[in-house]
Amino acid sequence: MKKFFLSFIILAGIFSFILLAPSCTKSPVSNAPNRALIITGQNNHNWKVSSPVLKQILENSELFSADIAQTPEAGKDMSKFKPDFSKYQVVVLDYNGDSWPAETKTAFEAYVSGGGGVVVYHAADNSFSDWKEYNKMIGLGGWGDRNEKDGPYVTWKTDGFVRDSSPGAGGTHGKQHAFRVTVRNAEHPITKGLPAAWIHSQDELYSKLRGPAENMTILATAYADTAQKGTGNHEPILMTINYGKGRIFHTVLGHAGDETANPAMQCIGFIVTLQRGAEWAATGVVTQAVPEVFPTIVTESKWTLYRPFTLPEILSNLKDYKSGDTRYNLQDLTNYIRANYDGGEKFAKIEKSLLEFLGGTGSVEAKNYICKELSVYGTEKAVPELKKLLNNEETAEMGRYAIERITGQYTN
Ligand code: ZN
Repeated sequence: MKKFFLSFIILAGIFSFILLAPSCTKSPVSNAPNRALIITGQNNHNWKVSSPVLKQILENSELFSADIAQTPEAGKDMSKFKPDFSKYQVVVLDYNGDSWPAETKTAFEAYVSGGGGVVVYHAADNSFSDWKEYNKMIGLGGWGDRNEKDGPYVTWKTDGFVRDSSPGAGGTHGKQHAFRVTVRNAEHPITKGLPAAWIHSQDELYSKLRGPAENMTILATAYADTAQKGTGNHEPILMTINYGKGRIFHTVLGHAGDETANPAMQCIGFIVTLQRGAEWAATGVVTQAVPEVFPTIVTESKWTLYRPFTLPEILSNLKDYKSGDTRYNLQDLTNYIRANYDGGEKFAKIEKSLLEFLGGTGSVEAKNYICKELSVYGTEKAVPELKKLLNNEETAEMGRYAIERITGQYTN
């Protein structure tokens, strides 16, 4: 384990470069007009499931290429977490965790007030309860000891939105269930053309959110039914906020489940509003058509294509990789290994698949990338297969590098 962490520290710089490296590529994704940065790495939710799904959703719009910036784990040194926000048209927050360094917070405030786009996704509105400017950006938030000091509750009554400054905790939800989302502003670019109401698949219905609620437009609400242990109020579900020149889209939807069941993120209502909200945040307009499969006022509609890639899929996407191609496939592999590394049985299976790949017909550059991964995460079991690479001058260098990292010994 110690060796793993040492190697990891040594290579962390290289890998964070790979994660955030701009790509020079000709794939449809890389021709996308906008760049998105998904920030993740700490959450009380399964971010290892949600972040890759968010990436797929954004990239499937063909309007975005998405990078993932992963923070250190909770409690670890955050001082080096300094993403370059300025390279992105939109920053998507899938993060609920430790404070960022002061320098990063200041850079984020400058990015947004200067015209940057932001998507606040689900539990991101639980985060940073003591960061004043962040709370202005999200409009409404919950948990994190939020109460009347943070701003009013906001709900929909018959005549419009009502602010309620009475004392009480911010943030609650009843049982997970499918519920109806109702559009309250049909003229906004994000909601224009959507059905007046639709059934959202099983999710948490965030309620009793409170915050500054300044420069905020509520686009849609949902009734939190008391039969589902809800508040009995019409709660804000989709919002936009203006912060300086910046545009923020806030969706409370999309509670992440596990790898096999993720109905809230698979709901086409969630997917389409996220794609439209991200486009609006990035550009100020929405050019996407509403798909025919959008859920209706009486029926759910789920898109099962949206799920994290499996390891065989990732390796298949990587098989023909050569220098100059999109690096997203490489990034997918790195993310997958990082997310699933347990130093035990689970990684043993991953390592077996990587070694099979090295013995197969994949490109030299793909194999070299896998050697790089094995140099960080690999075990002695990898050594025999890595030794075979020494017979080929194109793979010998990386093969030797991986062996030396794993064994801690120089090899000839
Ligand atoms: Zn949740």
